[in-house]
Amino acid sequence: MPDYSNITLDAIRTAAMPAGISAAMLRLDLLDPEISGNKWFKLKYNLAAARAAGKDTIVTFGGAYSNHIAATAAACRDAGLRAIGIIRGQEIQADSNATLRAAAANGMELRFVTREDYKSLQHASGARMEEGWKNAWIVPEGGHNSEGASGAGEILHAQPTFPYTHILCAVGTGTTLAGLINSALPHQQVLGISVLKGAAGLKDDIAALLQPGHTARWELLTDHHGGGYGKFAPAQLAAMNEFYEETRIPTDIIYTGKLIMAFNTLLKRNYFPEGSNVLLIHTGGLQGNSSLPPGTLAF
Ligand SMILES: *Cc1c(COP(=O)(O)O)cnc(C)c1O
Repeated sequence: MPDYSNITLDAIRTAAMPAGISAAMLRLDLLDPEISGNKWFKLKYNLAAARAAGKDTIVTFGGAYSNHIAATAAACRDAGLRAIGIIRGQEIQADSNATLRAAAANGMELRFVTREDYKSLQHASGARMEEGWKNAWIVPEGGHNSEGASGAGEILHAQPTFPYTHILCAVGTGTTLAGLINSALPHQQVLGISVLKGAAGLKDDIAALLQPGHTARWELLTDHHGGGYGKFAPAQLAAMNEFYEETRIPTDIIYTGKLIMAFNTLLKRNYFPEGSNVLLIHTGGLQGNSSLPPGTLAF
């Protein structure tokens, strides 16, 4: 079971930061070597709800490189739950990448389905699930449900985060962002950096998970996707390497590398008023870097 005391809060100072701005990174990446950062927070109450409902199986969904799939496999192994991963893409081979190999090695049963079937299964809400899944708790892709958001609401309690004025986080489904918004304080502004091009509907998906009483201001920034999900320019690799040289903190190509790029861009645009204290959430995802050719990154 991941131990929150592994999570550190590291002060950072980079050349891109003017003197009047301070920043720190909340290192969810240190939480567990297998269960990537924010994914444990999103799974925590899903596993508890499954157990409370007497379910012995978790069924969830993801793409071939999904950090959520890898994390769910490891978390279910630890919890003694059967795990079934529905993978988008009928043509994908079970041993085609490190994410899927790790999921299978942790006991997850992988089912490869066409993109059409993937979509319809996701919307089937259990009813049309095949016989063997009757006693299953369904976790939507990316852990996007209220249990996921509740768990993500605990992220800001892992360390004292009261002093921060801005909280920045990379966004996929927005579940983590919703949890952050729900638990942030009135003096804090939460900024989500979407890694998806064309994030239509994302704002509504986030709003659907917000508690009526949330007090923080929030914004979804959609022009930092760097070409779209899984795409990145050489400049991003350079920024990730530079950030590592300056802070000794590794980032991932899909999410946190784009968070760093966005932070640098916002600094350049003087987005943060003098005196701002910025909290960057390191959501993990470092296992995704294993798909890069060796030597691409300096870490
Ligand atoms: C999955 C993931 C995210 C996105 O989380 P959402 O809750 O889906 O928005 C961000 N960062 C990393 C490293 C991830 O693996």
